[in-house]
Amino acid sequence: MDRLTIGAIDIGGTKLAATVARADGPVLRMSAPTPKSGSIRALPERAIALLDETCKRSGVDPAEIRTVGVSSCGPFSTDDGLIGLVSPNICGAGSDVADLPNDWDVIPLESVLRERFDNLVIENDGVAALAAERSFGALQGENNCAYVTWSTGIGFGLCVDGRILRGKNGNAGHAGHMLLSETSDALCGCGNRGDLEALVSGRNLGNRYGQSAAAIFDTARKGDPHALAVTTEAARWFGRALYNLTATLDLAAFAVGGSVWLNHGEWLLPIVQEELLSHLPALTKGVRVCTAGLGTHVGDLAALSLVLSSEWATAWRSSAPWHKTALAAG
Ligand SMILES: [Zn+2]
Repeated sequence: MDRLTIGAIDIGGTKLAATVARADGPVLRMSAPTPKSGSIRALPERAIALLDETCKRSGVDPAEIRTVGVSSCGPFSTDDGLIGLVSPNICGAGSDVADLPNDWDVIPLESVLRERFDNLVIENDGVAALAAERSFGALQGENNCAYVTWSTGIGFGLCVDGRILRGKNGNAGHAGHMLLSETSDALCGCGNRGDLEALVSGRNLGNRYGQSAAAIFDTARKGDPHALAVTTEAARWFGRALYNLTATLDLAAFAVGGSVWLNHGEWLLPIVQEELLSHLPALTKGVRVCTAGLGTHVGDLAALSLVLSSEWATAWRSSAPWHKTALAAG
């Protein structure tokens, strides 16, 4: 096999992670805070250093890694065909997020990583999670499907006719910012009022109702009428968004992950399904909504799935090595 070891980098708003994997599965995953100060190259340079450190702790020569998958929070911009990162949670220029100690406008993510790695695939985190769910999770064999995360934010990865949708800047799947309610005062971090993320994300529900989303969903589950009304409304908006995507893309299945869904999907599912399936049965009949098959492992495998060979994926499917490997170190 020509690729002895592959690497993966996850870029989140608060945390970076690096993973090293071999033919028999992931070896080690390490994490570190996302850099938010210093030169505009600080983030990709830190990601490379973290991957090097992960290699050294795994007994792998860092020079051996030529192939790297990158799963990153978005949005992206492209310049000369190279992906740059313009996430408002990380880049200070023009951002409303308080206390970002930088004036970065576009982080040159791809150009810095390409200085080091020959074979590089960068996707937004929803797309990367979709790739993992299609390889190992609940979307195996599905050609018209979506991965959705319902967590502090809302993100999608979309697949139509077996092709993962990317769009002009690699931002397809930012459907969390689809506008749903003109009259709502719910505010999203992106500046929209009444978009899906404003109406249902853990962060925005927490901001709106003055307590953590975990507390709102927990008390709703115990039967508190106010919390139940809030969460039922959120689940209906979520189901409506799934309907809109089904009507637009003719999808057959959704795999839902993220902390809100992984903790509460069991009782939210009937509300979401009812909303989705109650519209235009000719389009929605039989559309499947299920929990992401990889559960909390989806993030560990997302970036790796972007660069896995089909031979490795087949071997990993039969042994599910992520269940036995210590991925949480660092
Ligand atoms: Zn938004």
